[in-house]
Amino acid sequence: MHMEKEANFNEWYNDIVEKAGLSDKRYPIKGMNVWTPYGWKIMRHADEFIRKELDSTGHDEVCFPLLIPETEFKKEKEHIKGFDSEVYWVTHAGLNELDVRLVVRPTSETAMYPMFSLWVRSHTDLPLKVYQIVNTFRYETKQTRSFIRVREIHFFESHTCHSTEEDAQKQVEEDLEILENIMKKLCIPYSLHTRTEWDKFPGAYYTVGLDTAMPNGRMLQIGSIHHYRTNFSIPYNITYEDADGEHKHVHQTTYGMSERLVGAMIGVHGDDKGLVLPPPVAPFQIVIVPIISKGNADAVLDAARKITNALENAGIRVKLDDCDERPGSKFYDWEIKGVPLRLELGMRDIDNNVVTFARRDNGEKGTISLSDISSGAELLLETIRNDMYNRAWKKQKECAVTIDSLKDVPENTLRFGWCGSEECGHRFEDENDLKLLGTPYVKEEFKGKCIVCGKPTDKVAYASRSI
Ligand code: ZN
Repeated sequence: MHMEKEANFNEWYNDIVEKAGLSDKRYPIKGMNVWTPYGWKIMRHADEFIRKELDSTGHDEVCFPLLIPETEFKKEKEHIKGFDSEVYWVTHAGLNELDVRLVVRPTSETAMYPMFSLWVRSHTDLPLKVYQIVNTFRYETKQTRSFIRVREIHFFESHTCHSTEEDAQKQVEEDLEILENIMKKLCIPYSLHTRTEWDKFPGAYYTVGLDTAMPNGRMLQIGSIHHYRTNFSIPYNITYEDADGEHKHVHQTTYGMSERLVGAMIGVHGDDKGLVLPPPVAPFQIVIVPIISKGNADAVLDAARKITNALENAGIRVKLDDCDERPGSKFYDWEIKGVPLRLELGMRDIDNNVVTFARRDNGEKGTISLSDISSGAELLLETIRNDMYNRAWKKQKECAVTIDSLKDVPENTLRFGWCGSEECGHRFEDENDLKLLGTPYVKEEFKGKCIVCGKPTDKVAYASRSI
């Protein structure tokens, strides 16, 4: 077994994905993996939280076609430049070569916006707020890795249209509140970086990247929010008639996250024993392991079934593991799968009217009273979630190291002065094999020098090696 997370994160990650049964990458197309039941359940719970937040903030769920005509795809010039090298094309239908080739969506701007131009007529149609959870396709040429770098991507994307730039900006702020609510459930911390001009989404006015620190000190982009101004509404002719009868272009935003959320959860919380799942997304939040000795099997199993029923009735996802394996081997298997809470029930526990618990996240053990099993378990699961979230945030904040020289650069995420010029930015990236994550979206006080040209600056930037 190679379960050493700190020593070799990449190897550990691949090992965990396989041993916990999250994904099967043996499908005969590289980067297109099979969602196995355990992994898919985790993703579905994450999707549920996304849906709940979007629905409650006035977004409507839609589902657009997978294929986009080349003619629509090419309308926004920066967009096509940005995606040209990574899209899949459908060139034939049956035996006929198509007159207009079809793009397999890499993202859905160019699928949705021709329809938005039909849907939006008047200022009373605004804001238009829709989202979908679908698969998208990108021809990834770097080495693929489950959930983190794949060619078929399970993807969430919201798209909004507003009458003014200020309203679109308010949407970005709402997106950040939505993000916070979702991440509390998934226990994933993040930093907000305004991407550089050359790294923003193709066609965007600006892009905010959502970055989570992995144990190797590198930042993983787990999502992004884009403000488009009228960059897409002009080529796609999305206009509305305002109250005075004047026709104007809408201002747009998008917000996207993907299955990388699962990759981030694995990376942030897992340990040398395996996966550690946040209770809100765990397929099983509790596993019950009966500790049976001679002559008490019926009594112990009977009590374990009663506890299982009580927990299920309280809405907790629980697994009673009553197979013939030894308890030690069951503990080992459920630890790999990251079940947040294990309950052990033996005759002595029953006599004391308690059940013994073991937390997966910190190894803490104790007992819960059987008279109050449901509320006791619920309280523990919420404590686990809260502790996981806070521990992860602490690590995220400690990850960045402020540097004032490029000698002996540590492996961490780096924070440094940058004059903001493209020339210094490119030189920094090219000479150091580092990627600029951008500048903090929430402005930070800084006084120092540009790390490249040495000019005094009050701007600070962040960088990390690519994941
Ligand atoms: Zn400079």
